[in-house]
Amino acid sequence: MATETMIRTAPDARVPHVNAQQYKAQYEASISDPDAFWAAQGKRLDWIKPFTTVQNVDFKLGQVSIKWFEDGVLNVSANCIDRHLATRGDQTAIIWEPDDPNDAALHITYKDLHRSVCKMANILEELGVRKGDRVVIYLPMIPEAAYAMLACARIGAIHSIVFAGFSPDALGARINGCDAKVVITADEAPRGGRKTALKSNTDAALLHCSDKVKCLVVKRTGGQTTWTDRDYDYNEMALEADDHCAPAEMNAEDPLFILYTSGSTGQPKGVVHTSGGYLTYAAMTHEMVFDYHEGDVFWCTADVGWVTGHSYIVYGPLANGATTIMFEGVPTYPDAGRFWAVCEKYRVNQFYTAPTAIRALMAAGNDPVERYDLSDLRVLGTVGEPINPEAWHWYNDVVGKGKCPIVDTWWQTETGGHLLTPLPGATELKPGSAQQPFFGIVPKVLDPQTGEEITTTEAEGVLVLASSWPGQMRTVWGDHDRFEKTYFSDYEGYYFTGDGCRRDADGDYWITGRVDDVINVSGHRMGTAEVESALVAHAKVAEAAVVGYPHDIKGQGIYAYVTLMNGETPSPELRKELETWVRTEIGPIAKPDLIQWAPGLPKTRSGKIMRRILRKIAEDDFGSLGDTSTLADPSVVDDLIENRMNRE
Ligand code: ATP
Ligand code: MG
Repeated sequence: MATETMIRTAPDARVPHVNAQQYKAQYEASISDPDAFWAAQGKRLDWIKPFTTVQNVDFKLGQVSIKWFEDGVLNVSANCIDRHLATRGDQTAIIWEPDDPNDAALHITYKDLHRSVCKMANILEELGVRKGDRVVIYLPMIPEAAYAMLACARIGAIHSIVFAGFSPDALGARINGCDAKVVITADEAPRGGRKTALKSNTDAALLHCSDKVKCLVVKRTGGQTTWTDRDYDYNEMALEADDHCAPAEMNAEDPLFILYTSGSTGQPKGVVHTSGGYLTYAAMTHEMVFDYHEGDVFWCTADVGWVTGHSYIVYGPLANGATTIMFEGVPTYPDAGRFWAVCEKYRVNQFYTAPTAIRALMAAGNDPVERYDLSDLRVLGTVGEPINPEAWHWYNDVVGKGKCPIVDTWWQTETGGHLLTPLPGATELKPGSAQQPFFGIVPKVLDPQTGEEITTTEAEGVLVLASSWPGQMRTVWGDHDRFEKTYFSDYEGYYFTGDGCRRDADGDYWITGRVDDVINVSGHRMGTAEVESALVAHAKVAEAAVVGYPHDIKGQGIYAYVTLMNGETPSPELRKELETWVRTEIGPIAKPDLIQWAPGLPKTRSGKIMRRILRKIAEDDFGSLGDTSTLADPSVVDDLIENRMNRE
């Protein structure tokens, strides 16, 4: 449709940062002379000692090494706070919106942020934390989570955030994994009207850790907690702590944080990001991809426990001097209008969320959206999974009123920031496609079997990156060998993303799903995303997940798990209808062999479907489901096993 393919600019008078011609010219410049391009971008930051070399990168297996701006000296927290004080000290840096809409929100200015971060930094130093030490952060979405991140950055400690929904076991493993000196937690985490007992989870986790680990406890609810010798009261200490703390001089390549991937495919990996390159890339992508302008109110709904929260709630927006929203709650509490209520309340300009949230809200209908004034929205974003065109259209029509560019941002914990994405004002939008490489990014499509590059414009295969960018991860914490094996051993000289993709005749990229999830039906290789999108496009289907299972004739058959819209009931007729539907939408080859009704799908805590587990169930091999510690609701799995279709 014409309206979709039009280049869309944000609905206001501002000129977008780049138009189509500028994107093309600047992209080409970024590829032909990357050092000049990135040297200029590195100047976004304030350097204590400017860098003289730009990159020093080797992708060769056995000697992989990635360094950016390596002789530069800076401090990340000074870049996110101090340098803004003179010009925007009284501007709101963080708007904190609590779980319960009746509780008071907070507007934290850059001056406030400076004070609180300095206090937290001094408290950490008092607890013995020094440059290079690790601090685990296990907090709800409260301002103290941002203070803790920036306080670590200020004194040169390395933070590792563990999502507050994780269990004591997962927390303990991550504390031990990086040998943390301190863990920062809160009494309780309110979320969706329920409370998680974070402090007692932490106590349970610490039973398996060294006695030397100290625990700093933030008061959130005032709920009852037990107190041990290793505990320190943050609120008490903050009363006394000095509100000045000189930012440490850090090398560009000093680690800023460790973060475990979400664990969709297997054992989570401790991804290490460093200081100068990461911040340059987070700041640049935040500005360009969301077409962020001075004075905008930016909202990323992720949790700081995920990389999206690191780069696009805290580091990117604050480096750019933005007003960023930190939301403690969930999309459906107290009702399915919560996101839109918050957008209206703060006159949000850029809104960034995940397909899982969009699909859930779509299933709740249009009324909850239409109750609110969303006229300040200018750019909508999505991240985490391929967005089904059906969900894209709903987001576009109902939320964006057909006016806001939608940026479908493809990236990974490992990449630090967006790699493939449309740009507002520069890209003709295609629902379901992550479209074009960001500046400096060189994607290639390889034949998965031969490893040869497919050079035709139209291509399908595995997605790799041919060169580095400043936000790229540097290593797996404590296991550089695993880093090399995971990302650089399958395809020589490339960073392997683990994702499959298709490049269309216009050169736009479509992520087809993880390579491990590709299904091979009678010799035809099929990504899971396409079949799932066809199912979701049916009016009665809310969500779908597709996996392969052994099939005598076809090699692999298609097994579909389908969640129906609220109010729809499963029936053999509906099953037939869906089979026919996919057959006509895609072709006979894509017709599901088995459809199982799924009241819920197993998802990671960040809302991604865990096809690894679904595949085991489809293979009738559910005895060994592997690591399920990152699963949001393990009970979903029992129901699916109980009602599986593929029994002997
Ligand atoms: P693990 O690596 O531990 O298995 P994970 O890959 O889910 O977990 P993340 O780094 O959070 O951990 O997710 C990155 C992956 O999410 C990408 O490799 C891709 O498969 C998927 N993804 C993210 N954004 C998009 C998008 N816009 N379109 C399609 N897929 C996306
Ligand atoms: Mg991954």
